[in-house]
Amino acid sequence: MKTLEVDCGGVIIGGGRPVVVQTMCNTHTYDVDATVAQCMRMAQAGAEIIRITVPGPREVADIAAVRRRLRDAGVGTPLVADIHFSSETAIAVAPVVEKVRINPGNFHRDHEQARLQFARLIEVCKAHGTAIRIGLNHGSLGDYITNLYGNTSYAMAKAAMEWVGMCVDADFRQVVVSLKSSNTLVMVDAYRQLASMMQENGVVFPMHVGVTEAGNGDSGRIKSCVGISALLSEGIGDTVRVSLTEDPVNEIPVGRYLSDRYAGLTASTMVRLRLEGRTALAEYSSPSRERLLLDASCDFGKRLLDKELDEVRFTGTYMEDGHEVSVEESGFGTYLSDELMQAARRRFYKPEYIACPGCGRTMYDLQGAFEEVKRRTAHLSDVVIAVMGCIVNGPGEMADADWGYVGEGNHKVSIYHGKDPVLRHVPDTEAVDRLLELIEGR
Ligand code: SF4
Repeated sequence: MKTLEVDCGGVIIGGGRPVVVQTMCNTHTYDVDATVAQCMRMAQAGAEIIRITVPGPREVADIAAVRRRLRDAGVGTPLVADIHFSSETAIAVAPVVEKVRINPGNFHRDHEQARLQFARLIEVCKAHGTAIRIGLNHGSLGDYITNLYGNTSYAMAKAAMEWVGMCVDADFRQVVVSLKSSNTLVMVDAYRQLASMMQENGVVFPMHVGVTEAGNGDSGRIKSCVGISALLSEGIGDTVRVSLTEDPVNEIPVGRYLSDRYAGLTASTMVRLRLEGRTALAEYSSPSRERLLLDASCDFGKRLLDKELDEVRFTGTYMEDGHEVSVEESGFGTYLSDELMQAARRRFYKPEYIACPGCGRTMYDLQGAFEEVKRRTAHLSDVVIAVMGCIVNGPGEMADADWGYVGEGNHKVSIYHGKDPVLRHVPDTEAVDRLLELIEGR
């Protein structure tokens, strides 16, 4: 889809250019040394844009220092300030970064004030050549919009259109839009609706696509590729972030694979495809396990999401340590089929996990806690469990989770049932036990 071009510090997003790969720091922004070091590793790994959280006015100077240090070291990667809850911080940071990401759902508590503050932000961005991302999340749409349209993909697209309209009215075109959800169906549907609404309006801004809180490991990669590839294959999406609860550098090869694949630079390693009714029988010859996993997610994600297929079975081989591994004999084919079906929300063979990637707001060992929660709850089924990095934003972003494990910092955890906190300030050494007791006692 042909969109407007947005210049983010010399990196062009949209206008039919190849999909731009971005990621986000999970360091504390006030720890300038650690943030600079992580940005350097990201840039070296191929990140084309880097996002850094700016929780409040104090961190404006920190991100400015990070940017200065990177430029002095010859690293020109554009920086995006990630803002939640503080419209004044967005306005203060706009002159010192290449892009500002705001979430309309929490830009300001009062909707009218939010509109006024956004108008001020646009003026500052115009004056400094700064781009804006209007970044909505399914979990934090805000009462104003959910009261009108419910907590739906349509509500997400409608909410985005209100803010897009403000930019159009102000003749501000340096805008990227995102509508993320951890639910691949909701996310794909929301972007499709937004794309047609913008086309009807005659101004199509580039779209930043991603599956938020996708988790980690194979599941995080498969879920991300299922959702993102469904859109990229339709020409929707101009920049991607693959959100993993891991070292953020690990996000970049997956994003690069997606960008290259939909630029026609790399092709699937599937060698044969046969259909038996609505079941696909796919044979692969892949250079690695991970490559097969990414290829299969992109080959079949959209068809499963759109219910063109009901099942996929895998045969063939992948290479591991110089040896050919049989997909069937190793059991990988069955596992991959189960994972794909779950990522496309067609069949659930284990709990559904939602985990944010963590950022400068995270005050505890999120990756360790997520692994522990997964290990201790793997036997459960028919339950959605969220593990979130901060108490400020985490509860609002958990979307449709049945249970939430939210790190408060200071070795304390809050446990949520739906949107309600049921236990607060639980020592982290006991929190998984308490969570299990609650789930099993329901
Ligand atoms: S929920 Fe996670 S990613 Fe979002 S602000 Fe909190 S720690 Fe950062």
